[in-house]
Amino acid sequence: MSSAKEEKLMTLQDQVKKLLSQKDTLLKELDTVEERFEKTNRLYRKYFPVIIDSIVTGENLFSRTCKDLSIALKKGESEGKMEYIFEQLKTAMLKEDIGPVSGKKKKGLFSSFMKGHSESFIDEYKQSYHDVVNNLRSNMDEKYFVKLDNITARIKSAEDTDDISNIRESVFSLVFVYISDTSQDREKVNSFVREVVGKILDIESKLATTYQQTDSMFQSNEGFELVLSAEMKGLKQTSDVALRLDELKIQVSQRLASIENALQKKQAKDRAIKEVAQKNRQTFKSGFAKLKLELDEATQYSEELEKKLNQDQLTGAYNRRAYDKRIEDEMARFLRYGTQFSLLLIDADKFKLINDNYGHAIGDKCLQEIIKRSIPLLRKNDMLARYGGEEFMVIMPETDSKGAKEAAEKIRQTIEKIEFIYKKDKVKVTVSIGVSQSKEGDKNHQQIFERADIAVYQAKEQGRNRVLVN
Ligand code: GH3
Ligand code: MG
Ligand code: MG
Repeated sequence: MSSAKEEKLMTLQDQVKKLLSQKDTLLKELDTVEERFEKTNRLYRKYFPVIIDSIVTGENLFSRTCKDLSIALKKGESEGKMEYIFEQLKTAMLKEDIGPVSGKKKKGLFSSFMKGHSESFIDEYKQSYHDVVNNLRSNMDEKYFVKLDNITARIKSAEDTDDISNIRESVFSLVFVYISDTSQDREKVNSFVREVVGKILDIESKLATTYQQTDSMFQSNEGFELVLSAEMKGLKQTSDVALRLDELKIQVSQRLASIENALQKKQAKDRAIKEVAQKNRQTFKSGFAKLKLELDEATQYSEELEKKLNQDQLTGAYNRRAYDKRIEDEMARFLRYGTQFSLLLIDADKFKLINDNYGHAIGDKCLQEIIKRSIPLLRKNDMLARYGGEEFMVIMPETDSKGAKEAAEKIRQTIEKIEFIYKKDKVKVTVSIGVSQSKEGDKNHQQIFERADIAVYQAKEQGRNRVLVN
């Protein structure tokens, strides 16, 4: 072999070597990136919820370490530092016996973090959904248990993200049924629903992030393949030039064939990964959009329901049900913190006569007008409710009888000025208002109501269309 050809062969061999080592370096880099993603992801997914839940428990070592962790997470501290904090947490948890799992399991919880990334993501999400279902179970009536059992069974047998997204659907439809069924306090229901939905969003957003990372890993792989392909093409061209050098050709072709073969395998594998990642991301993208929509619908539905339940159909004011609930709250606040409040009892004067003279429809209009004109005269925190036929209550938080009397007087004067024209008659309506204030010794709101009622009675006695405080 001539020395020029020998030199060529050596250059080619060098190139192949370089490529192989480049490939190794890149693969190693990929491994590191993958590992880092896995670890960071684990940190958030596994520990953050546990920590946040436990932070509220007070001033123990664990809570303090949680605070450190929270700061470190926000700062984006190095992995080493995070691991150090987790070690401290582990010690604190074992020492103070804190956490949602038994002592034995707690150990497992942390060792699995160190173990690496053999556990499948699906298992993580299955566990998260288990938690959600348990949360539902502890908040819902027994009649939902069959449905919850069914979801639990499906979580157990879930194998892929399609199953998970079906489970999410079932959880949502159950929450929907619960919202429309339950007679519980709407505010409580709403905050419960928000909590459940928040948890699900949390789970799913983490899952989506994971798949995004898979995709970006694939992209870097793809870059590697491009480089490798280009280099191989160059190699092929060079070996073509050395056509007569059989030995050289065989050696180079063999190497090329083996690289190409490996590359093809890798490409096929990567394509499969990408397909899965894309499919999952697509599922979750549409899942997210649906989730948001469902959440909006659920909230709106719940709000409408709440409004209907608390609203008087004729006047649009709050109804007796809303009054009963609010007055209980106000009284409880008064008994506990001494926060005073006042009540107005507004009773339309000689209303029977209005009905008799002008008809029930005009009477209804008068009631609507009384509400419409009174509301702008009140504060945002005051509550105007229709208590009975032509009787209305106003709850005025943090208002003494002096302030309440002024408001009542404004209402009285405003209503006095209302004029309906009925045929040729001017229809006028007046109101008598009784004012009372919470005071020391009051045990229940009925006592305060009774004082307002007596004041109204006296106002009627004294000629109506007046405000009296009692
Ligand atoms: P007073 O000044 O003593 O309060 O006289 P009053 O006629 O207002 O009192 P009373 O309690 O005897 O009658 C209340 C009337 O209010 C009787 C009823 O027909 C009328 N009323 C109650 N609810 C409605 C309603 O929803 N629409 C109409 N149009 N009238 C109603
Ligand atoms: Mg009355
Ligand atoms: Mg009346």
